Order: sequence, then structure tokens, then C-alpha cells
Amino acid sequence: MLRRKFIVKTAASLPIFMSIPSVMASSTDFDLKTYMEELRELVSIDSKSHYEEGVNRIAKIMADRFKSIGWTVKVRYLKGLGDMVIATNKPNLKSYDVIFSAHYDTVQSVGNAAKYPFRLKGNIAYGAGVADDKSSLNAVWWICKNLPADVNKKLNIAVLLNPGEETGSPEAKTVLMEEGAKAKYALVYEPGRPGNGCVRSRKGAMYLAVHFKGLAAHAGNNPKEGRNAIEAMALAIPKIKAVEDKYPDVTLNADIVKGGTTSNTIAEDAMVGFDFRFFNDKSRDAVLKDVEELCNKGFAPGVTATLKPSNKGSALARTEKTDALIAIVDRAAKELGQTQMKWLDVGGASDGNDLSGAGATVVCGMGVVGGDLHHPEKEWSDMSTVKPRVELGRKILELMAKEKS
Ligand SMILES: [Zn+2]
Repeated sequence: MLRRKFIVKTAASLPIFMSIPSVMASSTDFDLKTYMEELRELVSIDSKSHYEEGVNRIAKIMADRFKSIGWTVKVRYLKGLGDMVIATNKPNLKSYDVIFSAHYDTVQSVGNAAKYPFRLKGNIAYGAGVADDKSSLNAVWWICKNLPADVNKKLNIAVLLNPGEETGSPEAKTVLMEEGAKAKYALVYEPGRPGNGCVRSRKGAMYLAVHFKGLAAHAGNNPKEGRNAIEAMALAIPKIKAVEDKYPDVTLNADIVKGGTTSNTIAEDAMVGFDFRFFNDKSRDAVLKDVEELCNKGFAPGVTATLKPSNKGSALARTEKTDALIAIVDRAAKELGQTQMKWLDVGGASDGNDLSGAGATVVCGMGVVGGDLHHPEKEWSDMSTVKPRVELGRKILELMAKEKS
């Protein structure tokens, strides 16, 4: 209850827009002033991952908007995260030509919406969570809300709004995989990168823990009867690390070690964890097999090694199909007279990884250009890029509709 009061007070006390540069206000049916009023409201709501009260307020705003334009809206509650909104432009769709994906959870602590409210300096908007991902979330709405009738008729479109993107939660992943499997294309509205950047591939990530079991013995009385798990772990680390050299763009980095009990005991247990990243799922599977084989062979006599992989993710892989989607985006930009996109390969994962893992052809970073993500005070979103990115999204749909007919 206290929190609720806090939020209401915060929203009411936010400043009204001071001035909007006239160059940005000109548009056809896109209205930057309305867009920014909506964005201001979204930024005024604390929606840290797992803070269901705030997350669900945004879910409701988005669900109501899509209902208001006649879309079919399904709300799925994800335990511990809040409501996921799945909106489709037609009822009972079994497959999609394209998914638009965005998220409304943030990494910003509850209270940051009041401390770092929406504010404008020239074309740049600031505020906690403004770039990741609220401005792009709102851009998805503007792309979908006034679609030409023939595009709406020809294409099956789904909008997938995640309440827990920042957590990489298994609950959200399950839904993303289910929905991604129905889609030909997915456009992920994470923030665009400075310099008109979009993302064509993202590394997948997972975690590899290797547990070692030896035999405890007294280090003074009978050390030879012991089997030292820490020594086996020390031998294992470079051998496991060397697996990365066999595959392009794979990284394995030991980041946690644990082991031993007391200073006079031969260590019976040890463990090393590796952060594991990869640009395609074939490399992922090959590395898993290699590390498993090394563990089965063992690293020192009398010490067993057991691999326990977790958080198995997919890469957002660049394939020939990705290049075909990129060609559509580039053509859309060209037809609009926009600067060509700069296509980037990046290390961090997004919902695009799961959608790609499910079989959709994905590009990411399609949203409003922003930066200093996750920094409550510095995080910024460039309002001069909203209209171009909204128009680009619509033009992409027009081209996809043409391609289909
Ligand atoms: Zn994000």
C-alpha cells in the first residue's frame, strides 16, 4: 500500500513537457508529443523484474491499448514475474508471419521512477528504464496501431511483451519458445545502437559447473591415501579452457572456484564454473560433448569429474535466412530515404535468442536508439530516432505483405 501511494505521488509530480523541437513534431500520423506523453507515463511506473505490482500496471496499459484497436489479447501470468501480453491482429492464429517483441521489466530498483523521472534535453530523453526498454515498447504500439488495411489483412502479426526479459527466467523462455516456433520472422525491439545500429546476431550463453569428488585424508598422517579434488580441478581448468580454441567465436571463462574443507585435509570436493558463450547452437552442442568427454576421462587418478550444465540458451544465429530478413529491413530503409542500418554482432543475449532457438528468423535492436543502459541517471533514448524507427517497422510490414501476395 505504501508503495502504491508512492507511485501515484510520483506520477502526479512529474514535470509536463517543456518544449519539443519543431523538427521532431512534424509527422504524418505519428505524433511525437502523444508518444512522449505515453512514454512519460511508462517511465513513471517502477517495473523492476519480479515487482509484479508495477510490471502488471504496464501489462494492463499495453493490453488495453491493443484491445482498443480490435486485436486479440491473451494475458499469461508467469509465476514470480507478472503478466505477459500476447496480442495478435486476428483471433486464433496458429502461425505468425512476424512477431514484434519487447519487454516492460527493468533492472531499475523500485523507487528509481521517482528519483530519475522522464526528462528531456533537446532530443534526448532520460529516465530510469527509458531506453531499456520502454521507448521501444511504446514504438511497437505505434507501429501496430494504424496499420494499413491490406497489411493487416495479409499478415498474421503477434506482439509479445515480456514481464521478465531481464531475468532470463525459464517461465518466460517457455512462452517465447512456444510462440517463436509459430513465427517466420521476429523483430526484437531492444534499443537500437548509436550510429543507426541494429543487431543481426547475439551470442548464446549458458553455465558449465564441473564438480570434482576425491577422497579426504589427513595431510600429515596419511596424505597418500587421499585423492585431491582441488589438484584435479587445477589440471582440468586449462584443458576445459582449451576446448574454446576448436570452435570459432566460442568463449569459456572460469569465473568461480570452490573447494576444500580445512587446512590439514586433502580436499575431497572442488568445483569450477565456466561462463560459456557461443554464436551458434552447433558449436554449443559440440563444446558440451567435448567437455563431457574430458570429464568422463577424468583429470587425475581417483577423482571423478561431473559436468552440470545449466541455463541452456540458444544463440541468435546469423544464417542465410537472417540475411534475407536484413535485406527486407535494408530495402525498407532505402525506400524511406533513411540512412542504411549498421548491422552488429554482439555478445549479450535477449529474447531474440529464444525466438531464434525456437526456429524464427530474428533481428534485434530494432527499437529507439539509446545507450548507457541500466544506469539510472545516465540512461538515454534519442527521441529523434522514434519516428524513423516507427516508420521503418511499418514499411517492413508493407514489404512482408507484398512478399506474401
Ligand atoms: Zn532490454
